[in-house]
Amino acid sequence: MKWEKMNVKDVLNTLKTSFDGLSIDEARLRQEKYGKNELVEEEKDSPIKLFLMQFMDILIILLILAAIAAYFVGDELDAVVILAVVILNTCIGFIQEYRAEKAMEKLKGLISSEAVVIRDGQTMEIPTSELTPGDLVVIEEGDNIPADIRLIETSELLIDESSLTGESVPVSKITEIENKENEREVMAYMDSYVVSGRGKGVVIEIGMNTSIGKIAEMIQEEEGKTPLQEKIASLGKSLGLIALLVSAAVFIIEFFKGSPLVETFTTAVSLAVAAVPEGLPAILTLTLALGMQRMAKTNAVVRKLLAVETLGSCTVICTDKTGTLTLNRMSVRDTWLTSPENALKICALCNNARLSEGKVIGDPTDGAILLYAEEEGYSPEELEKKYPRIMEIPLDSTRKRMSTINQMDDENYLLTKGAPEIILKHCKWIEKDGDLVEMGPQDQEEIMGLLNKMTRNALRVLALSYRKISPDENLEEKDSLERDLIFVGLVGMMDPPRQEATDAIEVCKKAGISVVMITGDHRDTAAAIAREIGVIEDGGRVLTGPELEKLSESEFEDIVEEVKVYARVFPEQKVRIVEALQNKDNVVSMTGDGVNDAPALKKAAIGVSMGITGTDVAKESSDMVLQDDNFATIVHAVKEGRTIFDNIRRFVKFQISTNVGAILTIVSASVLNLPIPFNPIQILWINIIMDGPPAQSLGVEPPEKNIMLRKPDKENILPRKNLLHIIIAGLVMAVGTLGLYIYQLSIGISEIQARTVAFTVFVMFQIFNVFNCKSKTGFSNRFLIIAISVSFLLQLMVIYVPFLQDIFRTTAISPVDWALIMVISSLILVSEKIVEKFT
Ligand code: ADP
Ligand code: MG
Repeated sequence: MKWEKMNVKDVLNTLKTSFDGLSIDEARLRQEKYGKNELVEEEKDSPIKLFLMQFMDILIILLILAAIAAYFVGDELDAVVILAVVILNTCIGFIQEYRAEKAMEKLKGLISSEAVVIRDGQTMEIPTSELTPGDLVVIEEGDNIPADIRLIETSELLIDESSLTGESVPVSKITEIENKENEREVMAYMDSYVVSGRGKGVVIEIGMNTSIGKIAEMIQEEEGKTPLQEKIASLGKSLGLIALLVSAAVFIIEFFKGSPLVETFTTAVSLAVAAVPEGLPAILTLTLALGMQRMAKTNAVVRKLLAVETLGSCTVICTDKTGTLTLNRMSVRDTWLTSPENALKICALCNNARLSEGKVIGDPTDGAILLYAEEEGYSPEELEKKYPRIMEIPLDSTRKRMSTINQMDDENYLLTKGAPEIILKHCKWIEKDGDLVEMGPQDQEEIMGLLNKMTRNALRVLALSYRKISPDENLEEKDSLERDLIFVGLVGMMDPPRQEATDAIEVCKKAGISVVMITGDHRDTAAAIAREIGVIEDGGRVLTGPELEKLSESEFEDIVEEVKVYARVFPEQKVRIVEALQNKDNVVSMTGDGVNDAPALKKAAIGVSMGITGTDVAKESSDMVLQDDNFATIVHAVKEGRTIFDNIRRFVKFQISTNVGAILTIVSASVLNLPIPFNPIQILWINIIMDGPPAQSLGVEPPEKNIMLRKPDKENILPRKNLLHIIIAGLVMAVGTLGLYIYQLSIGISEIQARTVAFTVFVMFQIFNVFNCKSKTGFSNRFLIIAISVSFLLQLMVIYVPFLQDIFRTTAISPVDWALIMVISSLILVSEKIVEKFT
């Protein structure tokens, strides 16, 4: 079907739809017939495949070989047990990875998108996935195109199709082909977005049948590994390599000592299995995913895993004022009207908000003055009918004003409202007591005086103006229409700050995070609100967009860290602010909601978009979406980010100290010509109980009490201090275990008992080491308590339950042994304290 070649009427007829859209019933029928409007996701590995993949590990294969070897030399029991361990190990690995994957999937479900459709003549919002061919969709600035659509109505519609064509210049769209070479000009394609203007279109293709759906590879792109995931993976790899080398060395030494070959081989493989931190990546993913779920509960939806990692080290939060620090619930508090009647008409007519049952729909600024006009007896609806709108020159954050042209008794009038200093520049006249007088310096001064008074009181002020348009003027030349205006008044409105914002800013100060307000509003209004909520103290530095324009890169960088408020900013300047801050080594979080904010959101380490007022484009460029548009939510998220990072450090510290401990103990025994204190099954046991639950539960520790009282830290997951701790802990474990082992052997105790004691003291070292790695806020993490208790109980069973004794080659040990074990293993708590003292 060549939709491009048909005219609008034929398109509607062919698709059996109309300007009222499909009926709701018809839409449902079509949904059943055509399916969901979704780009089919890449096939996920099935759980069985995921399980089987656990066996595709060289160490696991070596272990299986060891079991087979054990079977052939007559150690059937060992063979069976090793196989059982292999299966248990893979189960644990599988469960960890499966949980991590599920948790990530759940998060994907949180990010849904909506489209505006007309069905049965009604405008409604539905999930994009429910669109079906024939649906009528409404698109406006910042919207993603939700399917492939044939346009049937456009007004100044500009679309960015760079994701499809690579061409970054937006293309303008119309409803009937003007240029035969360019049939695309009447179409809008899925995955492109509206840069400006608005339009309506009929859905012609959905899901995989869309142009983007047909380019299969583009949608199969996966989120790459984050730096942290890569770091953990490479840490795991280097440790793994060391473990393999050490195991090989142990094997060779033991071989030359003449130890039984199969047992030595099994020991070496077990050691390798134990010393490779194979669980780290899965635990990392799980920790991140669970953290993201907690964040989502407090309205911060993370779109990119990476953000969780960077949030914790955030040093500057740049935030919008309106709606984020304030409630975006505006009301007119103060006015100065030189011609009330005309001023109120402008308020009512040069306005895009609507009132529905007393509630404002649309832009809150417009809403406030609309309500004001209505209260003063100027009903917007009646005026709209009487003075129909002919044209609009839209508001944007660069122009900072909007105009409409309305027909009033056969004459056309231009009504303009906007930022006072800009409107005043375009005013030639002032209307006073019904008379038009040329605006003189005195009038200017009077107006500026009033403006200052209002803005200092934190009011957002708009100036109102108009002029008559003569019939011979060309309405197409929009830029030149707003001139020679007649000034009729100022309206000041209040947008109260959010209560939580003040507290959150206080938290940031203590946490060493600086808060920067960026707004398009007037300098004094911005400063007054900033002062009220604690962003600046009296005399704090405020920079305006035009002032920033004049600064060179280096001049700006010199002062960027002092400026806490940017007023009258142009959206493009946000990128400059981010860059300058980043050049000063800051980790910057930046908020935004419009199309123009997208570059800054991408540039910032943590781009934050608004869930309520944000456009699709802003959301897609961001790393995190604030479901409630609230500044305080960012600060919560930073706290969560710090907690997650702490927890990652905890389990890394814990797991690596276990690995180092095991390696040092066994290697030293081998080198000191002692019989190796643990048999292979014991080593595998240590691996299972230590790599699994205790490490995992360290990933969900509660935050430290002082977590928002310390400065942001940019150290990595294995800070120097932890490295030192790991080495010392490993040494203490090795010396303690071997010391006790040698002592036991020297007093003539049976070898099996000496080994049991050594095995147990090593396990107890690990249990106490959990306390070294956990947070200092008490024991509210019940997973950790359960993990520790279960590990301890299992250890008791392994020593005391007869049939387990056979399997593990252990024997019951005496209270005196226990006393020794407890004293020695708790030394690791002491050593931690000492390390802490000296670092
Ligand atoms: P912010 O969201 O940071 O407060 P905006 O970019 O929304 O700033 O607004 C910047 C300026 O544009 C305002 O201070 C005001 O002067 C002007 N402005 C905002 N909304 C409107 C509107 N609806 N009509 C006319 N002018 C407006
Ligand atoms: Mg705004």
